[in-house]
Parts: sequence; structure tokens; C-alpha cells
Amino acid sequence: MLRLIIFGPPGAGKGTYATRIAEILGIEKISTGDIFREEVSKRTELGKKVEEYLRRGVLVPDEIVIKVVRDRIERLHGRGFILDGYPRTTAQARALDEITTIDAIINLVIPDEIIIEKLSGRRICSRCGAIYNIIELKKIINGVEYILPPLPPRKEGVCDVCGGELIQREDDRPEVIKRRLEVYKRQSKPVIEYYKARGVTFINIHVNREPPVIINRILNALREKGLLD
Ligand SMILES: [Zn+2]
Repeated sequence: MLRLIIFGPPGAGKGTYATRIAEILGIEKISTGDIFREEVSKRTELGKKVEEYLRRGVLVPDEIVIKVVRDRIERLHGRGFILDGYPRTTAQARALDEITTIDAIINLVIPDEIIIEKLSGRRICSRCGAIYNIIELKKIINGVEYILPPLPPRKEGVCDVCGGELIQREDDRPEVIKRRLEVYKRQSKPVIEYYKARGVTFINIHVNREPPVIINRILNALREKGLLD
């Protein structure tokens, strides 16, 4: 029964890795982003509040996020989990310490340059939302070799699944990504320092290959730390 947190910059594939790790280990993925999206689409009281914050372009206040995560963890009755998108602030981290203990933090490491290039190659189907990538990336940065294969559609600009037109999301443009990376760095730094000061186990993983390789690396690291059989 593992209690994990996953950290990583936007574009590192955090959500994908959290989902796969949760499936493989039989633990719950708790993603605040997913929870809020679900509440918004169901038009619940919480969803309406969250929608209002998003409309004003401000973060959902700590007290709301903390309550949502506390409820989810309590409902697990001791089952393991992997937190994605939480904690974002040291107040959220402190609140988490009052609810449970964390066995390890999986910290995805990937240089800005790679994220910007990779996301600029992302294409999304305007009809069904299927995701493709037209950029093949091969680069060495600080001695780490990045080999990230493309995921192109069979026919350029056309979705394999539904024949819809492929578009580039506004969010995936370099200027937008750079801004999001800056925000991430500013926000995550105190949280990471908080956990380092508390001596929580950090598992740093370079995201320099395709997802199955990275998943195996994460599982092996958990075994090496004695957290997994
Ligand atoms: Zn499609």
C-alpha cells in the first residue's frame, strides 16, 4: 500500500504516468484537476465555485483543495494513492501531513527546451480530441540523451480515428508554454524544499524516452527504495 506524490512540469506527461502507475500498483489516482473538471461538468455546488475561480483566472483557494483531497483520502480507508496536482502550496503540503504520511515523491525531470519543442509538435483532433505528435526529438542536454519518437497521424493533418482536422492548441504554443513553466517553477520550488527538509524520499526520473521505458524506471526505483516487492 503505497502513498505517492507525482511532481513534474506541464508537458512532462504527469497525468499519463500517474494513471499508469495507479493501474499497475492497484492504487488510486487522485488528480485535483480531474476532480474539479468532473465537479464542473456535473454542475455540483463545488463545481460552480471552481468554475467561478477559473473564470476569474485565479487558483482555487487552499481550503477548498485541501478539503477535496482530505475527503478522497479518507474514502480510501487505508488504500494507497498517487497524488497528481497536489500539493501546489506549502499550506496544502502541511495539511496533507496532518491527514497521512507520504512514502515517496516521484519527481519528473525534463528540461524546458525539450518540453517546448515537444509540445510545439503536439496536434489535437478538433472533433474527437485524439492526440498526435509530429516532432521526432533527438537531443543531448547536460549529458542526458533525449530520444522521444513522434506519434504522427497516418495522413498529415487528419485524425486516424474520426477523420477530423488536427489543430494546434493555443496552450501548446512556445510563448504560452514558457509562461506556464515559469509559473510551475515559482510554485513548486517552496513545496519541493518543504519535502526535502522533511526528508521525504525523492525519486528523480529523467523523462528522456517513451512512456513504457519511463514507467519501468519508476517501478524499478520504487523497488530499489524497498517500497515495492
Ligand atoms: Zn478525431
